[in-house]
Amino acid sequence: MTTWVARPESGKELNRRLILDQIRRNAQISRSDLVRLTGLSKATVSSIVAELMEAGLVEEVGNQNPPVGRPRILLSLVADANFTLGAELTDEECRVVLTNLHAEPIRRVYRAVGSTDLSPERLIPVLEACVTEAVDGVDPACILAMGVCVPGIVDPSSGTVTLSVMLPWRDVPLGAELNSRFPFPVAVFSRGTAATWGERWYGVGKDVSNLLYVRVGSGIVAGLVINGQPYLGRNFGAGELGHFTVQPDGALCRCGNRGCLATLATTGVLLSRVRQLLREMPDAAMSRAMQENFDHLKLEDVVAAAEAGAPAALQAFAEVGRWLGIALGSTINLLNLDMVVIGGPMALAGDYLLQPLRQELHQRALPTHLAQMSLVASMLKEDAPAVGAASLVLHELFSPVRTSAGMLPADRVSLFA
Ligand SMILES: [Zn+2]
Repeated sequence: MTTWVARPESGKELNRRLILDQIRRNAQISRSDLVRLTGLSKATVSSIVAELMEAGLVEEVGNQNPPVGRPRILLSLVADANFTLGAELTDEECRVVLTNLHAEPIRRVYRAVGSTDLSPERLIPVLEACVTEAVDGVDPACILAMGVCVPGIVDPSSGTVTLSVMLPWRDVPLGAELNSRFPFPVAVFSRGTAATWGERWYGVGKDVSNLLYVRVGSGIVAGLVINGQPYLGRNFGAGELGHFTVQPDGALCRCGNRGCLATLATTGVLLSRVRQLLREMPDAAMSRAMQENFDHLKLEDVVAAAEAGAPAALQAFAEVGRWLGIALGSTINLLNLDMVVIGGPMALAGDYLLQPLRQELHQRALPTHLAQMSLVASMLKEDAPAVGAASLVLHELFSPVRTSAGMLPADRVSLFA
């Protein structure tokens, strides 16, 4: 499968992207440097820069005084004059961020789904309400595009959700539906892919070529960057780390297999394990706060208890870290990665989780593979999927190459349509 996709557009559109891409990568850049870096003629650069300034995307920001020759006018992206939207739609909530052109969130809107009806007919209006709130007071002409991500498998070319167990959806044409409802173009991504590219472009994984992002929450899913490119798999289903067998005769998983990682290392499993440990060690003084919340225990309570040294909390995180380490050890041996990023709600545990995970990796992964690899917690935290979705549409709009991770409708991808 080809991972970078040639754009079907005209030479002029490609030239605009070559120039925009350089202006985005270099905070401030002169026209003559643009000529040098893009290989385009002086006249082409001047005419396209004039267009970009006219469109309000680029501005002149000062002078550069080279040792020889005339001062050069510097150009910069107008990061706060145009916006993109990023959204994460799940069975529990809808999160929308309004970002500037550096994918920095300017506004965040959350809304609980608050219903057991998870049909698209019920959830799309929740997304619409969040978007309306996020863009309140913003000139609609300044919203360039929106990226939406959902937990599940998404066909990136059409934005169809082929399968989501969590929602639960099968063959839902979400991209087509959203493009008919919003005045700006919309692309749909899988949540794992969006979060991975959020971390890769704007988070902890900047410039990392081989990266695995692992989201640990009520389920476990991974996203892969190999040689700087997205790896999605034959049917866009790569990254199902939750269904790695780590305990051959373990509990039955909803996929039908036994002993999957998802039966041992999710937030749900952690909370029930803590309850079980509290029953076994009822008099541990540090566990008092957790015992008060026993029936409504949240991950935050367990993290607070671990900070206070509660043995039940520390042991539960150590067990989850160990199971993750077993699955990741094999993954690291197979892929020889530069970086593994742990994200999702469980990343809140920080070193209480990462330390036992690291220990397990030292038992199971090859020393040659571990020596150059870093294991880190997500930098974008809970924003990763929504910011990632926004960053993927920014890339779609501004970059001379498209990723195969998700696409805006081809007829709406131009900034000058
Ligand atoms: Zn499974």
